[in-house]
Amino acid sequence: MEIYLDANATTPVLPAAQQAALAAMADGFGNPSSIHGSGLKARFLVDQVRASARRVLGAPTGQLFFTSGATEGIHTSVLSALSELRRRRDAGECAAQALLYGATEHKAVPQALHHWNALLGLDLPVLAIPVDGNGRHDLAWLRAQAPKAGLVCTMAANNETGVISDLDGIADALRGSAALWLVDGVQALGKLSLQLIERRIDYAPFSGHKFYAPKGIGLLYVRAGAPFTPLLTGGGQEAGWRGGTENIAGIAALGAVLSAWEAGDLFQPPAALAAHRAQLVQALRESFPGLVLNCGDAPCLPTTLNFAVRGVGSRLLLDLFDAAEVRVSGGSACSAAKAEPSYVLQAMGLPEWQTQAAVRLSFGALDGPEFIAAACARLRRCGQVLRARGLSSESPAQAYAPPLVTRMQHGSACCYLLADGDSGECIVVDPVAELVEPITRWLHGRHLALRAVLCTEEAPAIDAAAWRLREATGRCRAGTGPAHAWSADADRPVLAGHELIVLPGLPRGRQAWGLRQDAKLRYVLAGDLPQSAAPTRMPWLDHWAALGAVSGTLLLPRADGAGLFAARLGAAGSASTCMGDDTAVMLDGAAATALLAQGAGLWVDVREAHERDVQVPGRGIAASRSVPLSGLLSALPQWLEQEVHTPVVFYCRSGNRSAQAARALRRLGHASAWSLAGGLALWSAPAVDCSPESVA
Ligand code: PLP
Repeated sequence: MEIYLDANATTPVLPAAQQAALAAMADGFGNPSSIHGSGLKARFLVDQVRASARRVLGAPTGQLFFTSGATEGIHTSVLSALSELRRRRDAGECAAQALLYGATEHKAVPQALHHWNALLGLDLPVLAIPVDGNGRHDLAWLRAQAPKAGLVCTMAANNETGVISDLDGIADALRGSAALWLVDGVQALGKLSLQLIERRIDYAPFSGHKFYAPKGIGLLYVRAGAPFTPLLTGGGQEAGWRGGTENIAGIAALGAVLSAWEAGDLFQPPAALAAHRAQLVQALRESFPGLVLNCGDAPCLPTTLNFAVRGVGSRLLLDLFDAAEVRVSGGSACSAAKAEPSYVLQAMGLPEWQTQAAVRLSFGALDGPEFIAAACARLRRCGQVLRARGLSSESPAQAYAPPLVTRMQHGSACCYLLADGDSGECIVVDPVAELVEPITRWLHGRHLALRAVLCTEEAPAIDAAAWRLREATGRCRAGTGPAHAWSADADRPVLAGHELIVLPGLPRGRQAWGLRQDAKLRYVLAGDLPQSAAPTRMPWLDHWAALGAVSGTLLLPRADGAGLFAARLGAAGSASTCMGDDTAVMLDGAAATALLAQGAGLWVDVREAHERDVQVPGRGIAASRSVPLSGLLSALPQWLEQEVHTPVVFYCRSGNRSAQAARALRRLGHASAWSLAGGLALWSAPAVDCSPESVA
């Protein structure tokens, strides 16, 4: 069962709403502007739903009309307010000096402010209202700015943290000000009693898809007497407030949700929601040591939980949860793809690590106790796997065998961990400060002692990171103790059958290291590689030939923004880092199913081991091999030498990491490397038991 915990991004559509939409399309498809029977039926429906919305929102007066969603409602409100401010300015009336919005507002608000401010030629300063550490507006600041404000925008509840704004406090701070007031009610719909009529709110946009209606339907409330300029003019629909034929199916669906809410017997009552939240918090705290909640003591929507786990990045948690079919997000859905720190948490002044590691879990008012119990169980399983894999602050009981070469990346900077499971030792090459903590945890989780830190270049930043790593790993198993540098005279350690040697010939200030097996250099770590599509001759290669450099030796770059992974020495002692055609590696579902049916190909799961561990039984692809992308380099020689004629199909969660792996393998000379397009997220071939044959 999928555990959907991302209700603040969007909710599923209530079954009754689906039926209402279908019925509206089948029988109620008339145009509400038509005066015949079909039109009148549609008009009746629109009026019924509007009446229901008025009751739910506490808006018996003022305009309440249907939009496509909240972004449209926000733009309409801002256009209306700013048109009025321009009229006042042009009429010589008391002119506004600033436009204000809460610093944690949804991006649609400041974007709309900047857009219309420029387009209407107002050019007023647009200022963010600061929030305190709990995410609540600084009312003293607002009170001081209110006299010169033209429009004030504050959300009713925050989409990332669930923090509920003090609307009465804001109203009080605005007392006596001529400013217009927009309240983004998106996250409050169905969760808070807004009673719009009792407040001096001028504009309040809402969105259906955040409350069990489909996408593409929303509402905008405009207080009676508040200035208004339509965003869309047209055939006079919605009394001329919003042109365009009404979205009858969407309105019908929204109507079904509002009716259910009014009936009061479908959605969980507030006390149950609070109990569900408490259960989830407890499960999270038990499962993830070092967890902190990101909403302080402020009143919060009971359905939203924003947290961070010290030392565990949000990317890792999101991948882990998604593999376990627990759908959460790392902040707002709109910023999910950007992997940037949360601006909401930054505005609250939370420590950097919390803003970067934030995870948002939001459930819905339809989710009952059984669902919450299942969610808690799944979260606990995720925590167990994280601990077992040594990725939490706790030491795992069992140490999993590390691959010979693991690559960690920060931005384009690559750091290599050369490990030997038998001796329990690891050599780290080119660490950077940001990776010190993950490397330390990685070593700790595999019960590995740090034997040495090597640098391919004399750079102060690497040097500093090397020393920090040495300090941070002080708890590692006693060995020879980390050496900061390695000299040619030092003994030659052997790691998983590979001898580590110093390679001569590089210019002053640079250093190269090689991993040699059976007199052949398998890997060379020599710092930056030439960034060229054409084979580039490297003068020092002649020196290395005597030490085992052969055609096929893999060169591992220190910086790899392009995702090359490695370059391969050519026959003439040159290396090429040429890029392949990106789209050519995609294998669509039908082709993948056909290949599987033939029993052909080598199937490789490039998700990290913890993702595979939490996978719901019966999912995934049978008889696939597990080679996490971080350990890809360890498997490359085998694919390029022994399995060069076997199609290799990589897969992962979304198709992103597998495409990187497939492109890397293609570029290095394997003609039949593929990536399952869309990853497991789109994979619908018969699910079979996954029996990992781990090579990494
Ligand atoms: N405001 C808030 C607080 C939101 O959470 C969202 C959606 O994430 C929006 C506005 C935009 O809503 P819509 O998707 O309906 O345009």
